Amino acid sequence: MLSSFAGGWWVRTPCDNVTAVGGGTRIDRVDVVLDAGHGGAESGARSPDGEAEKVPNLAVARRVASRLEQMGISTALTRGSDSFMTLKTRAEIATALRPKAFVSIHHNAGTTEPSTVPGTEAYHQIASDDGRRLARSIYEEVFSTFSRYDVRWYNPNPGVKSRRGDDGDYYGVLRMSQGTVGVIIEAAFMSNEPEAKLVLRPDGQHAEADAITRGIVRWLRTDRTGVVLAEPNAPPDPAVPAEDAGACVDPPLG
Ligand SMILES: [Zn+2]
Repeated sequence: MLSSFAGGWWVRTPCDNVTAVGGGTRIDRVDVVLDAGHGGAESGARSPDGEAEKVPNLAVARRVASRLEQMGISTALTRGSDSFMTLKTRAEIATALRPKAFVSIHHNAGTTEPSTVPGTEAYHQIASDDGRRLARSIYEEVFSTFSRYDVRWYNPNPGVKSRRGDDGDYYGVLRMSQGTVGVIIEAAFMSNEPEAKLVLRPDGQHAEADAITRGIVRWLRTDRTGVVLAEPNAPPDPAVPAEDAGACVDPPLG
């Protein structure tokens, strides 16, 4: 929401345009903004069978939101359906709602190196100690939850990381949401068929979402620092899906 006029609102659309809507409920502030990575024409990573990352991203984000709401923690989703949204719009939603935490949910691609443990990675903003603590908390919960599954994992270099680009934080949602505590969780490797199968199953999604929820709640309500399985500023994995997928088409609003 940008500003109001008699009978409606000027709002930012998912494609980063401005339009007027006549209805809706204004939300000024929430505790946690959850961002399901990719969406619409932007599938994100793909499993060897062709399943798109955007699907478990949304399923997990929705469940985290509902679990947090059950605990009295208010939430908003950057996208609640399978729609494309620019990184700028995601970050703008996150900062406009002034949340305590902004958590972007992804499932990774790229490495083909096998691992005996889950390849979970959590990225935080380079300069944010609070973000690092949030990333550790979420990482620890997701890593230990997935460790209970008998899966042939990828990525022998999991951990809590930050990644520097030419202009500060490499990842757009973290760079453009500076001032808000932001974390990207790459829970497992979509590009690895056994991991993709796990995160496409409802029980796998529930386990992951409940782990992310515990990580967020612990960070919100205690000062506990996560375990140090961290690899700060570790060499990046090469696999970052394209951030924009062709022309952006706004869904109907209002
Ligand atoms: Zn992704």
